[in-house]
Amino acid sequence: MIRPVYAANWKMHQGPSDAKEFVRLFVRKYARRNDRTICIFPPAASISATAEELRERPDILVGVQNIHHEDRGAFTGEISAPIARDAGARLALVGHSERRHVFGETDEQTGLKCAAAVRAGLMPMLCVGELLEERDAGSTEAVVLRQLRAGLALLEPGQIASALIAYEPVWAIGTGKTATPDDADVVHRAIRAALRELIGDKAAKVPVLYGGSVNRANVASLIAVEAVDGVLVGGASLDASGWAGIVQA
Ligand code: PEP
Repeated sequence: MIRPVYAANWKMHQGPSDAKEFVRLFVRKYARRNDRTICIFPPAASISATAEELRERPDILVGVQNIHHEDRGAFTGEISAPIARDAGARLALVGHSERRHVFGETDEQTGLKCAAAVRAGLMPMLCVGELLEERDAGSTEAVVLRQLRAGLALLEPGQIASALIAYEPVWAIGTGKTATPDDADVVHRAIRAALRELIGDKAAKVPVLYGGSVNRANVASLIAVEAVDGVLVGGASLDASGWAGIVQA
């Protein structure tokens, strides 16, 4: 049994002051529970402030939204996995649809980034998901599994076992459109089967989250799907009370 994972992706919102205020409100509304895992992905500049504010709550993990695949070097404006780790991150989001489709990140780069995350002691959360036209063309599974295999290509089986996967159909992100629980179930099962091909029984340990317009009203029906091990939430995670409601739905 995988403990459900509730992950907040703040995207380019919540600077250090807002992040601290969010955490102060959120921890008042969310008492530690051992039956779920909570993660927050602040913008890079707010990782330290968020982690510092959570120093009494090690049950709530902080992550970085994106990393460069090199550990150091002349890459102005980038953040490496070791720097993110030093700032307080424990996870790294890799291959979010905005990285792939706004910033042109390739499958190959996601593989390098997952490897960089693991080298630095960060758990990669690899995002995969199809565009609307790919869905309409009936290629959802082919796209998602291609992204999955490429993202995990450089990891050893034991390292894959400590990764997380987020299935996020691109057409559902920030649009108010959500995959139905049945749709999510089909893709999540395909992901689990592909993980099993890669790492055998260890695949049972890898949480597969759903993301795409998850909110307070629909979270319970998605989490209730057996193949859905958690949710990755963007817009609806920005308000501390709303987020506390989602993680306790
Ligand atoms: C996301 O950013 O990963 C996401 C799922 O966003 P939203 O919940 O706003 O659709």
